[in-house]
Amino acid sequence: MTKRKHKFSGEVEASQLVSWLNSGQSDGRRRVAEIVEIYNKLGKYVRQVWLPGEKKTGRGAMYLRLQKLLDRYAYKFKVIAQHTILVSGTKLTGDAFWESSNLLLVQRLRQMGLILSVKRCDGCAKWTFTKLPGQRFCSESCRIKAYQSDPDWRARNNAKRRTLYDLHKQKDNIGIRERR
Ligand SMILES: [Zn+2]
Repeated sequence: MTKRKHKFSGEVEASQLVSWLNSGQSDGRRRVAEIVEIYNKLGKYVRQVWLPGEKKTGRGAMYLRLQKLLDRYAYKFKVIAQHTILVSGTKLTGDAFWESSNLLLVQRLRQMGLILSVKRCDGCAKWTFTKLPGQRFCSESCRIKAYQSDPDWRARNNAKRRTLYDLHKQKDNIGIRERR
């Protein structure tokens, strides 16, 4: 098979963000993870705007929490050769630097309309970039594991297997009769 040349738009940004979120525990990661989760929850209210003075519960609480989380970051434009890039307004090192640059990835993915595709796997809880609408798992093995541990699915699957088994048995009986 030939290597896929064209990446999905946003795939580079999303895979950088996802691998940083998955690469350990830190306050910075927890903050950026919470920001992504709030954007995901607000996703369904995309046509509704919350304004100061409105109810501070429910959706209002989400907007206020989001603003509080975002208030800690400061950026400025910097000209580097032919590029103008957004950098942190204060000199950052270590974790704080990565937190600040990953928040920029979150905002770029939002502008591309892709932040809703960055979510936790319903199986292993790892962050993942889902490429299909409605995709809930990071991998086929997580999907299968989750379905196999779901009693409803097991019951349905067992019933299906029994029906298949009965069908085969019937066919075998017919075969035997025909051979006679
Ligand atoms: Zn998974």
